[in-house]
Amino acid sequence: MPLHIIRSDITKIECDAIVNAANNTLLGGGGVDGAIHRAAGRRLLEECKTLGGCNTGEAKLTGGYDLPAKYVIHTVGPVWRGGNNGEESLLRACYINSFKIAKEQGIKSIAFPLISAGVYGYPKKAAIDIAVGEIERFLEGQDAMVYLVLFDLEAYEIAGSLYAKYCD
Ligand code: ADP
Repeated sequence: MPLHIIRSDITKIECDAIVNAANNTLLGGGGVDGAIHRAAGRRLLEECKTLGGCNTGEAKLTGGYDLPAKYVIHTVGPVWRGGNNGEESLLRACYINSFKIAKEQGIKSIAFPLISAGVYGYPKKAAIDIAVGEIERFLEGQDAMVYLVLFDLEAYEIAGSLYAKYCD
């Protein structure tokens, strides 16, 4: 099965690239962003400083430094503002643009956190549906392994009830 939904800490995943749910500055933050910067070490921040930030829905590539992953793809999810402010298409764009970079780099295994579903407040079920939908679409045309790494139990339980076939 080329999509695996797992409950884990994304900084521990051994794969070609992990995706960071970053903010527009790309200079680090809380949540998964903070965890990735802590685990990757100071050199990640130094590279991020050269990138000039990132627009919401877009993605940028860096090295993985002290992480087990070779690369980090930084993408900026939308802040949830009720659902009528382009949130869904922006969140889809995060996956689409991350996969675009993965293809360009020949990345064959990639792990995503549940983008926007933490501090940015995206409803978890909707965020999971978008993640799984975009990952499935990517995998139709690609020989790759994709991990959706859920950190909190609530998200993992929702995913288990909707997409048991993908859950480890
Ligand atoms: P955002 O600002 O995009 O909402 P957050 O980092 O606040 O980003 O949350 C995104 C998701 O990442 C949340 O579902 C949160 O539970 C999860 N998360 C936090 N730390 C980790 C981690 N170490 N590994 C994987 N997922 C994590």
